[in-house]
Order: sequence, then C-alpha cells, then structure tokens
Amino acid sequence: METTKCLIIGSGPAGYTSAIYASRADLKPIVYQGMEPGGQLTTTTEVDNFPGYPEGIDGPKMMEDMQKQAERFGADIRWGTVSEIDTTKRPFKVKIDDGTELLAETVIIATGATAKYLGLESEEKFKGGGVSACATCDGFFYKGKDVAVVGGGDTAAEEATYLANMCRKVYLIHRRDQLRASKAMQNKVLNTPNIEVLWNHEVKEIVGVEQGFMKALNGAVLVNNKTGKEKKIDIDGFFLAIGHKPNTDIFVGKLDMDETGYLITKPDSTATSVPGIFAAGDVQDKHYRQAITAAGTGAMAAIEAERFLD
Ligand code: NDP
Repeated sequence: METTKCLIIGSGPAGYTSAIYASRADLKPIVYQGMEPGGQLTTTTEVDNFPGYPEGIDGPKMMEDMQKQAERFGADIRWGTVSEIDTTKRPFKVKIDDGTELLAETVIIATGATAKYLGLESEEKFKGGGVSACATCDGFFYKGKDVAVVGGGDTAAEEATYLANMCRKVYLIHRRDQLRASKAMQNKVLNTPNIEVLWNHEVKEIVGVEQGFMKALNGAVLVNNKTGKEKKIDIDGFFLAIGHKPNTDIFVGKLDMDETGYLITKPDSTATSVPGIFAAGDVQDKHYRQAITAAGTGAMAAIEAERFLD
C-alpha cells in the first residue's frame, strides 16, 4: 500500500499553504483536493484583502496560483475525496472515494467549512451577482449602497456592524423577535443608526436584473412570519450569515470537536486530539474564517507535522 509522510486533506488556502511548506520541508505531501478543488474562494469573485495583491485577484485564480506554487516544490495534488480514516494507530490508514487506500504518517486536515444558504432558487441565481456569504470579503463592493444581512447570531451582528461602516443602510433580517448574538454584539447592532432590524421576517425571493452573463440583484421580497404581510426592500448586496457547517463528518467520534462540529486544536498549535493529526483553516476556526488566517494555520500545521516526524 502507498505510504506518505504527510497527507493533506483539502485544497483551500490552508491545504495549499500546508502543501507548500510540507513539500519545501521534503515531506513529499500528497494532497486530496476534495469535492470543491480550491475551496470556498472559488465561489468568490475578487479577493482584495490578501496581502501581496495590490490590485486584488480573482478567488479562483488565487487558488490556481497556490496550487501551482505547491506543485513547483513537488506536492502531489490529486483529485478525490477522503472517505474514511482510521485514527487509532499510526501510520493512519486512509480510504479515498475511488477505492484507493494509503498509509499516512501525519495528516493535515484542511477540509474547511461550508456556508449555509437559505436554499432559494433566486439566491442561487444571484450568487456572484450580489449574494455573498462573507461581508469581510465582499462588503467593500457595496460602499455607499444599501444591503441586507440575514441571520441573528454573532456573525450576522458582526457583519451588519462591519457593513454599516461603509454602506448607506443595512437591513438585518431575522426570523425571530430576539437576536441570538451576544449582548455586547446586540447592543452594537441596536445602537448603530444605519442598521434597521427587520424582526420576524423571512426571505421569500431575491429579485434583480439579468443580461446574458451579467446578473445584479436589486431587491428582496420578505414575509413577516407573524402577520403574513409581504414587503420589498431595495438593496444591492445580500449577505447570508446563518451559520457555517465545518466539513468534519468523517472525523466524528475520532477527533475531539466542539458542539458545532469544529475540530478542537491545542492552544497555539494545530495539533488535534490525536498525535500526528493536525487541523488548519476554517475546519478549526469559527471566529476569523479568512483566507489569510487559513493560510497561516496551514503553514503552522506543516511545520508541526515536520517537527512531529523529527
Ligand atoms: P449561529 O448558529 O450562532 O447563528 C445563526 C443565525 O442564523 C441564528 O440567528 C439563526 O436563527 C439564523 N438562521 C439559521 N438558519 C436560518 C434560516 N434557514 N433562515 C433564517 N435564519 C436562519 O451562527 P454564527 O455564524 O452567527 O455563529 C457561529 C458560532 O461562532 C457561535 O458560537 C458564535 O457565538 C461564534 N462567533 C463568535 C464571534 C465572536 O465572538 N466575535 C463572531 C462570529 C461567530 P435563530 O436565532 O432563530 O436560530
């Protein structure tokens, strides 16, 4: 059976950065890209907050470049998804969805998290045309405009206040009459004059214009779930903040996770509860969720894997 010193699962900024570091450390890493090669950034348009790109860069292009950079140092990047892992003994036996099996002396998990969407057809239609699940990534494009954020948790509160600094008006659409966010975040939201909370509202449809490939939303139709009354708001940006799901299903019962499924790593480290298995990027980070922080923990994981093998 094939053996590798370092198996990297996932191909977002965390996976590719750990691949760059691990291959430069001569660990000859094998990377399985997973279901969405390039990760969440392949669904964004322009990335303007990753240092080193003064003019910004397309998300998919940035991921292509990271892949090439890892390959330049010999990372073996493969199409496929890890379907099973035995974490009880080293080397860890891993199964790939095409039936391949391999043994890994160390594993870096960089499987990321998936933003939750409402599941509306119109939401799907305007992805990349005003619908986004990341205000920090895309908020800048809506400077001086009116936008909406959906959700009532800390992320929604944080994104609404972030957007309120640059947008003319922010609607916070919440399905209940009480926010789930911490008291401090709630106070911030309620005391920001250009945030209007639309309590007990659900989104029925997103509307906009389509011309060939060009799509731009310009409003949303909401329903008050107490009165059944419909209301249309005029907006240019629509931000989902209804939670993320970390991609950790195959590690349930094998690695320590918190109650929402995020992998738990040791303080100041990417080490998981099993020695030799490390976690980097959004799969272990529900607070920052940025490409740059994912890349940072990817570098940490590769350095820790190298030291572990030493
Ligand atoms: P949460 O799960 O805490 O909140 C999700 C919100 O979205 C809830 O208000 C929920 O409504 C709403 N929601 C869920 N599904 C739907 C749906 N289908 N339609 C409409 N609304 C929906 O997720 P967050 O991302 O906000 O936070 C995740 C974790 O990360 C939390 O533990 C949070 O505290 C933490 N966090 C901490 C931060 C910080 O400390 N700075 C910043 C960001 C996150 P309802 O309330 O009705 O269930």
